[in-house]
Amino acid sequence: MNQYDILIAGASTTGSWFARKMAEQGFKVLLIEKEEQNDVNRDYDIIHFGKEDMEKFGMTIPAVTDKDWGFTFASSVIYSPYGNHPKIGAPAPVVGVHKHDYIMRMNEEAKNAGAEIIYGAAFDDFIYDENKRIIGATYNTKDGKQEVYAKLVADCTGIPSAARTKLPDTSVVENYKLTNKDIFFVVLYYAEYEDKNFKPRSLDGFCMQYKAWSAPSGNEHGAILGIGAGYGYDYAEEIFKDYSKNIKRPAYRVEKVEKGMTPYHRTLYSCVDDNFIAMGDAAFLTKPTCGEGVTSSLVQAEIAVDVISKLLKENKALTKEALWPINCRYMKAQGKDFDSLRPLLFGVISADYDEAEYLFANDCIFSTKILGGMGEELDLTAGDIAKMLAVITKGVATKKLRGETVGKIVKGLLQSGKVGKLYDNYPATPAGFAAWKAQADALWDEIGGMADTCDPALLKKLGYEK
Ligand SMILES: Cc1cc2nc3c(=O)[nH]c(=O)nc-3n(C[C@H](O)[C@H](O)[C@H](O)COP(=O)(O)OP(=O)(O)OC[C@H]3O[C@@H](n4cnc5c(N)ncnc54)[C@H](O)[C@@H]3O)c2cc1C
Repeated sequence: MNQYDILIAGASTTGSWFARKMAEQGFKVLLIEKEEQNDVNRDYDIIHFGKEDMEKFGMTIPAVTDKDWGFTFASSVIYSPYGNHPKIGAPAPVVGVHKHDYIMRMNEEAKNAGAEIIYGAAFDDFIYDENKRIIGATYNTKDGKQEVYAKLVADCTGIPSAARTKLPDTSVVENYKLTNKDIFFVVLYYAEYEDKNFKPRSLDGFCMQYKAWSAPSGNEHGAILGIGAGYGYDYAEEIFKDYSKNIKRPAYRVEKVEKGMTPYHRTLYSCVDDNFIAMGDAAFLTKPTCGEGVTSSLVQAEIAVDVISKLLKENKALTKEALWPINCRYMKAQGKDFDSLRPLLFGVISADYDEAEYLFANDCIFSTKILGGMGEELDLTAGDIAKMLAVITKGVATKKLRGETVGKIVKGLLQSGKVGKLYDNYPATPAGFAAWKAQADALWDEIGGMADTCDPALLKKLGYEK
């Protein structure tokens, strides 16, 4: 029988890393990947990771002469919608790589550790035992349907979540499909500046009002101008035009355009069930500030390796009770911080361009302290809050800020606190999960999502229903 310890669907960054780490510990691991080897992850070319994160997770940093090497830079600047008042976080080195080639490297590393990979093999459905427990999966290849058995099935298939969406409604893992309101549609314009004396790095940075950015492309006279938004690529392209009106860039030529999707959704409440785990984009582990997800996914994957390998070594069954510490530890390590930041972000980006400019100029909300440390727990002192209130009060009095915007920001702040408190009380076992989930559902119904902040007039023009 085709029996493995771990079956992983999806051989991109999360699947490859998890496969390698489990195989390194001597477990029998199979990766099945829907695409043929040469076609894996070709949607966009350049991807970047913090160098410190790469080191932390043991991701190889390519040599400058390697095929997958792109470039390195240091940047974490955030600008106002008019490109002013940069808020600079701690400068951190970032490594850019060619994604497909880097994933091939990660595949190779998984294989060298002992994992097997089958390309052109698309997860189809679970195989269950007589007690309705997952014991394996079927997958489709050009030679027909195949069966494989495993103690754990890991869904690393990204947005399609091919395995997670096949779970029964009774599962503690949510089995819904993401809609276009839960996804960021990202468009990347590879720009080449005409003035060869211009230093593109001087304009690099990120504007959270639009989820727009300029980042190195590897071409010293060029940059990747990116934009991400809900609903569709057409919506993102329209807001890119609007954003471009405000930012003064020298003339440039667009060499190529790439498009891709990343989840923009709160984390799954539970990533584990009996003999199952959802990981990476399939569990919505992307950063709330920018939608990047490779190293943030490894925070959960690292916990999963620790918990699962101990259970397997002790010959224990991988029940949801046994796997539950993965949920608890992930919520503490990152999930709570990511998800409690979301409502605040929804509130602050409701500020229009002029309001945001005022807040940026006065280092209020869009401040070095908050924006420089995004994704981490907010540590605001009474003095910080008093200063913010003074700037906001002055802004309302001088009509630089609308009362409606202030209301949204305050609401976001309060909701952030509520999410934090609820996630602090994440149930220690599955027994308390149903009651906790009911509270969490009610809270997220009240909070809504990033797509609620989209421009209704533009959505209507493009034919979307809000
Ligand atoms: C334009 C753009 C730029 C980005 N830039 C960055 C960045 O710079 N840094 C960063 O950290 N993140 C970035 N992200 C986000 C990042 O791409 C994702 O978070 C990351 O790729 C998630 O990895 P994953 O392995 O979980 O899923 P994916 O990379 O989506 O991989 C899923 C894999 O599963 C396979 N698959 C799908 N269905 C099946 C099936 N039925 N059976 C078997 N296999 C299947 C797919 O072919 C694919 O190989 C960016 C996203 C976009 C769209």
